[in-house]
Amino acid sequence: MAYKVLDLFKDLPGTNCGDCGKAGCFAFATAVYLEAYPLERCPHLGDEAREIAARLQADRDEGGGRKPDSSEQALEHLRSVIAEIPLDGVAERCGGTYDPGPPESVTVEFLGTPHRILRDDVICAGKAPTVWVKILLLIYATRASGRPPEGDWVAFRELPNTVSKAKSFEASARRIAEAFAGRAEHLADAVAGVGGERIAHPSAPWAFRIRALPRIPLLLLFWDRDEEFEARASLLVDRSVLEYLDQEGLVFLAEALAQKLRGGDLAEVIP
Ligand code: SF4
Repeated sequence: MAYKVLDLFKDLPGTNCGDCGKAGCFAFATAVYLEAYPLERCPHLGDEAREIAARLQADRDEGGGRKPDSSEQALEHLRSVIAEIPLDGVAERCGGTYDPGPPESVTVEFLGTPHRILRDDVICAGKAPTVWVKILLLIYATRASGRPPEGDWVAFRELPNTVSKAKSFEASARRIAEAFAGRAEHLADAVAGVGGERIAHPSAPWAFRIRALPRIPLLLLFWDRDEEFEARASLLVDRSVLEYLDQEGLVFLAEALAQKLRGGDLAEVIP
């Protein structure tokens, strides 16, 4: 039987709390239905989750569901853009390493792992990057202005045009706080694993500078739980960050960071 976005939406809790990383239940339903965003990201579904998953699968089996070409189209567009730009200049602006090849490439560290940007693809020595990671890195490479970070940390919502995405960005910090509550030392280890380092900061007992991409540092502040308060985390960006990624790219980057710190698979990170 058909089971569409609206059917899924009606089966969700309807609180629009944003804990799933989306702006609300309808945005979540759309992402699950069209982009295979993981249903498990809504932590407020109980036993009914299994039933919903079965209905979604039955709908997919009948040809409904995913819209597979939107990401491929975006990737194709970005490939055509980078095909026109000299890669040595790209490397200089985005802080990558240029290799004349063949094949000609620019290597950038993405959350501690080197990725090679070629004219027609993005590759990685370990697991093949997902289409969304490729899109992120191509946006970064083609948008990079070369302006160095200002060293002025701001909240995501202080950047222009972030009202509709701020909750999603902040949900990533919340997921980090939940995962490492009572385990601050483990968070320090996880941060080291993505190329970050602990630094002193006047606002938080645990502060980490993470080089998410060569010209995109992130500041992660963490307050562990105590008798009074739950663990909290805050993720700040450099004021110059929009010279390198757009707002949606930053939301994806924050989700990818949360996923990697928790030891998860980047394949599950879908914008
Ligand atoms: S987590 Fe997302 S889908 Fe679940 S209730 Fe909150 S907004 Fe709705």
